[in-house]
Amino acid sequence: MTNISHLTILGSTGSIGVSTLDVVARHPERYRVLALTAQSQDNTLFEQCIRFAPRYAVLIDEGAATRLEQRIAGAGLDVEVLCGAAALERVASLPEVDTVMAAIVGAAGLRPTLAAARSGKKILLANKEALVMAGRVFMDLVQEHGATLLPIDSEHNAIFQALPHNYSRHQTDSLTASGVSKILLTASGGPFLNATLSELQQVTPEQACAHPNWAMGRKISVDSATMINKGLEVIEAHWLFNASADAIQVVVHPQSIIHSLVQYVDGSVLAQLGNPDMRTPIAYALAYPERIEAGAEPLDLLKVATLDFVAPDFIRFPGLALAYQALRAGGTAPAVLNAANEIAVAAFLNKQISFLAIPRLIENVLADLPVTAVNTLEDVLSADAAARVVANDLIKSTTYLS
Ligand code: NAD
Ligand code: MG
Repeated sequence: MTNISHLTILGSTGSIGVSTLDVVARHPERYRVLALTAQSQDNTLFEQCIRFAPRYAVLIDEGAATRLEQRIAGAGLDVEVLCGAAALERVASLPEVDTVMAAIVGAAGLRPTLAAARSGKKILLANKEALVMAGRVFMDLVQEHGATLLPIDSEHNAIFQALPHNYSRHQTDSLTASGVSKILLTASGGPFLNATLSELQQVTPEQACAHPNWAMGRKISVDSATMINKGLEVIEAHWLFNASADAIQVVVHPQSIIHSLVQYVDGSVLAQLGNPDMRTPIAYALAYPERIEAGAEPLDLLKVATLDFVAPDFIRFPGLALAYQALRAGGTAPAVLNAANEIAVAAFLNKQISFLAIPRLIENVLADLPVTAVNTLEDVLSADAAARVVANDLIKSTTYLS
């Protein structure tokens, strides 16, 4: 009999949060949910409280927290409602919790995810932005406090599965020591894979959020459409697997059946395949090193029939090149890239700037801010803050509409 695992799910009302609870609900004998968190979605959080009876429910928005508290009291549930960002760190560090799903979107997830690392938890990492921003600081905390980091991003989960079981990222030259010659990171190419530059000029938020293979939150959907998501994932792979920019190659694979591959020096290439369903990597990380049922449709290769591969187009999708550039520049550059992207995506979703202005804005912010070394979390946070100021100023002062 396996021990019961006690979970905190950061961002439980989002796409990854809901998929996580779906897997958890299939295995009540294995998992017990101790804390759920959301920004402001008190209705969904209330439903989740009824279903999973956590000890804590956290909301960032005060009005939403008050409403939830009233409904919890009315329903006679024994759930403590907490409010504010500090409460996220608290529930990520509870001594009774062994596993933290980090599924908040964007920089807002950084502090609670680091709190989980500092408390030596098993961290299931969906919140790639945290790793992109603070890679060195994050990985050092993981090592120092004996935390375990398991990737949820489907590509990184695939790479993790295709690497040797005893793979250690902490070794110098880990990939070479394991006989790995290259990591092949697959990309669907997003909804505009075959769009022309002039078509890209006209893209609306609704079109950008309609991904052909995956149903995701709005921010990551836009990131996939610009392919900046793949750029963030290159940086994520660098930190997770101790891989240089040169050792990570992006391959566009529109069917999203192969979730990524590892090429070895002997010519072998190991891949992980499956239908595009985030419950597969979530179940893998939850039960690791065991395997549990995830609710995913079994892969029917005869139905898929064809797997295509093409090179990424850095002209139509300059965000991908910018991410490689930021990774090579090192220091604060990835944090600046991430912050500029978050501001740009929010402005695009608000119809303040055009689709093609997203990478242009990131490029200008990167050019505006000198790269400095990252030694502490404060270095990361000040680069993030500076990039947001520059990005917002540029949006106000320049015509980014077209
Ligand atoms: P989402 O927008 O659907 O959900 C985000 C969650 O975070 C929600 O619960 C929301 O309430 C919470 N949240 C948002 N802003 C917050 C804030 N300021 N403070 C506290 N909580 C906040 O996003 P998602 O698609 O589930 O993505 C979550 C993370 O997982 C992202 O980093 C994304 O890149 C990554 N990811 C998602 C997928 C996917 O299929 N959705 C795949 C791979 C990686
Ligand atoms: Mg991914």
